[in-house]
Amino acid sequence: MSVPVGSHVDTRPYLLERVDEAAVVQLYADGFEALPLREKILIYHLYQAAIAGRDIYYDQRYAHNLAMRDTLEEIVTHPDAIPEDTLAEIRRYTKLFWINSGPYNNLTARKFVLKCTPAAFAEAARIAVRNGARIPADLAGLEPYFFDLAVDPIVTSKTPGAGKDILQASANNLYSGVVMADLEGFDERYPLNSRLVKQDGRLVEEVYRVGGRYDKYIREIVRHLDAAIPYATAPMAAALRALIRFYETGETADRAAYDIAWVQDRDSPVDTINGFVEVYMDARGVKGAWEALVYYVNPQKTAGIRKLADAAQWFEDRMPWADQYKKQGVRGVSANAIDVVIETGDSGPVTPVGINLPNDQTIRELHGSKSVSLSNANQAYDKSTLPEFRREFAWSVEEAQRAEKWSSVASELTTDMHEVIGHGSGRIAEHLQGNPQGVLKEQYSALEESRADLVALYFVPDRKLVELGLVEEADHADIVRAEYEGYARNALVQLRRIREGSQIEEDHMRNRQMIVGWLLANSRAIEVRRRDGKTYYVVVDVKAFQESVGRLLADVQRIKAEGDYEAAKTLFETYGVHFDPALRDEVVARVDRLHMPSYTGFVQPRLQAVRDDRGGITDVQISYPLDLQTQMLEYSGRR
Ligand SMILES: [Zn+2]
Repeated sequence: MSVPVGSHVDTRPYLLERVDEAAVVQLYADGFEALPLREKILIYHLYQAAIAGRDIYYDQRYAHNLAMRDTLEEIVTHPDAIPEDTLAEIRRYTKLFWINSGPYNNLTARKFVLKCTPAAFAEAARIAVRNGARIPADLAGLEPYFFDLAVDPIVTSKTPGAGKDILQASANNLYSGVVMADLEGFDERYPLNSRLVKQDGRLVEEVYRVGGRYDKYIREIVRHLDAAIPYATAPMAAALRALIRFYETGETADRAAYDIAWVQDRDSPVDTINGFVEVYMDARGVKGAWEALVYYVNPQKTAGIRKLADAAQWFEDRMPWADQYKKQGVRGVSANAIDVVIETGDSGPVTPVGINLPNDQTIRELHGSKSVSLSNANQAYDKSTLPEFRREFAWSVEEAQRAEKWSSVASELTTDMHEVIGHGSGRIAEHLQGNPQGVLKEQYSALEESRADLVALYFVPDRKLVELGLVEEADHADIVRAEYEGYARNALVQLRRIREGSQIEEDHMRNRQMIVGWLLANSRAIEVRRRDGKTYYVVVDVKAFQESVGRLLADVQRIKAEGDYEAAKTLFETYGVHFDPALRDEVVARVDRLHMPSYTGFVQPRLQAVRDDRGGITDVQISYPLDLQTQMLEYSGRR
């Protein structure tokens, strides 16, 4: 028996604290306890492997990171008699340092600094030493890294300005003493997994592998991966063996073999990503930042995605567009909904909400890729949204309460519908030869996102969702209303992200603006109201909302299917691109007054093994630390 979506009201703590513009939020892995012991033990070993590599990422991000973190952690764990204001500032800075894995803001890439005086900091360190702390010998040498904004100001600088070198301008530790000109004619043998160093005028690749750079961490990772293998399914065991092989040799061919083995493991209930993966930190976009995630399939949510996918033809037959654009034999797009148990390195404490790997384009084309959506991260984001934020833009108390109660369920449902029955639907006219992008050009992406959103909005009130068991009949009307209200509000709230100009560039934002703008102009579904100098978008007619969405969807499908570039351009130019800067200024002022967090760091679940007399694992227990400092100190062995 499964618990229906949205049937229990969750009162656990999500938002734990605010640190400047960051929120600290607890991540929950419901469902872990119900896993078979074999999978729990598998996850436990992979979890250990994820912690074992964490410091690789710290070191990659900044050469001084580990010494800085040691200093901070020693001080905060030996605080007696440190003056209160100094200690408070050190704690603030340390929390930001943990959330961002170093002194660079993960959104802006820019450095942040300690705001006490260097003398006060040195005094705090002396007191901590008296309390038994072990502070790195050269504390004075670290001072500029803690205090001077002009020293190593940006972690990744892709556009440093005329005459400046992107590698020199970037403070990360993926290169040492190297400029772009050095790379001309250089044969880079380990592009993804090496640090490039200039020694005596020539380039040396320090390969990340057993016996190479990060040897001590990588050996530990390998040890834990090895311990995991007996508990893995056969395809997953094959992938883990391939990963170990890659960690041992560092060779590109072994990395490719691992990618293939990982992609081919499609059905295992547990999976991990562990290695040098994303390349955003490297200004060249070549070197992989280390990360690890361990997760299990959320069977209930994945079952929901599969039910939608299986019913894809039912939805296709009822699309509100002309019959010639309806497809036969349509199959829903399938992905796994997962719950993460731990994310470290490049994916934690700040986490992605969806992942599609591997990045190697050749392997994607030949062997496919795997997509996961991080259900529990998405849920934690939603649950940690400040109630004031919803209240500020909701016209009535009832609307705010509905959002509080249902927006998480509604947005997960419509996101699945968008992906599964939205993007895969519809037939294209023959003359486009399967390539509408070619004629719709820069309009294509926003149009296609609109189409997928409209499919979700159109079918979310449909009884079919109750029949499929995706929503409870009694909740359905509230969920629909909450979704429509949230969609309308978002067109207003999203303007906060565009603080300059009066135009929207990003495709998803254009799509949402277009749909709400079109509804405002062509239906009675939404009213613009004003109260106390504030603007509200109020959904006044749910039925009109759905019917109008159907009309718009029919037209959007026609535009895509016929490749009607002029119509697409007119649609977005009229409703999706331009906005009133005065309205934006109002929204920005309202958001700023609420001190909205601009990013979130997650406290991960904690696993503990229960062992028998001979050291064998008899159970794995999950708990939630509810505290960033507790978790960070435990990871670095200080608790
Ligand atoms: Zn999409």
